[in-house]
Amino acid sequence: MIDIQNVYKTFFVPHEIQALHDVSYHVDSGEVVVVIGPSGSGKSTFLRCINRLEHANSGHIMIDGVDVLDPKTDINKIRMEVGMVFQSFNLFPHLTVLENVTVGQTSVRGRGKKEAKENAMNLLNKVGIHAKADNFPAQLSGGQQQRVAIARALAMDPKVMLFDEPTSALDPEMVGEVLEVMKTLAKEGMTMVVVTHEMGFAREVADQVVFMDEGKIVEVGTPEHFFMNPQHDRTKLFLSQIL
Ligand code: ADP
Ligand code: MG
Repeated sequence: MIDIQNVYKTFFVPHEIQALHDVSYHVDSGEVVVVIGPSGSGKSTFLRCINRLEHANSGHIMIDGVDVLDPKTDINKIRMEVGMVFQSFNLFPHLTVLENVTVGQTSVRGRGKKEAKENAMNLLNKVGIHAKADNFPAQLSGGQQQRVAIARALAMDPKVMLFDEPTSALDPEMVGEVLEVMKTLAKEGMTMVVVTHEMGFAREVADQVVFMDEGKIVEVGTPEHFFMNPQHDRTKLFLSQIL
């Protein structure tokens, strides 16, 4: 589903930094991959290159046969195939919850208003927030906003969902409700790449865990491997700091 080969990404401002250094990885359809690693290790850049929010400098990224780095590939095509959920929700503040979940469907997917609205209500129901359809984002709790953001991403019928620390900005009591929605998605067979520090989620849901450090993938394995028998010193150190 996702095939990443020898990807490099360098930022030049404010100073030169190699955010991704020869990253290769393969995600099968239906697989849930959890990416962990210290701050600044390149996790967000890795996700953002997958949906071309950042343009990798070199390498290959294919999503279900679509060449992400080919300049001829329509960015809207990528945005339809790859849903993304951010730490800071990023809902449109001037649109209602319902409008947040319909706007992409009508403008990018080309759906009619009625179909888009029906689909949106089903998704809001799925994430448990249909009662708030006519509210504005600012009237919702963080956990509710994040569930709307997940519904909005799903409304495009993506083949892949990327999550960048989706619970890091939430009050502790709201983390569970968002993780529950993500677990349901995983059980339904969604292909997911999740950057998170929620090791309980990684243990329970991940098929593979990827540890990144200094722009490189240092270690890959099943949750059992990671939490019982990590191999690399840097992985051990990181896990000892967060567990
Ligand atoms: P993580 O998500 O693991 O914390 P990031 O992918 O955000 O790491 O960042 C990796 C490195 O790239 C960091 O050194 C960060 O400062 C740098 N970086 C990320 N985004 C940008 C950007 N837009 N401009 C310049 N440097 C960036
Ligand atoms: Mg990050």
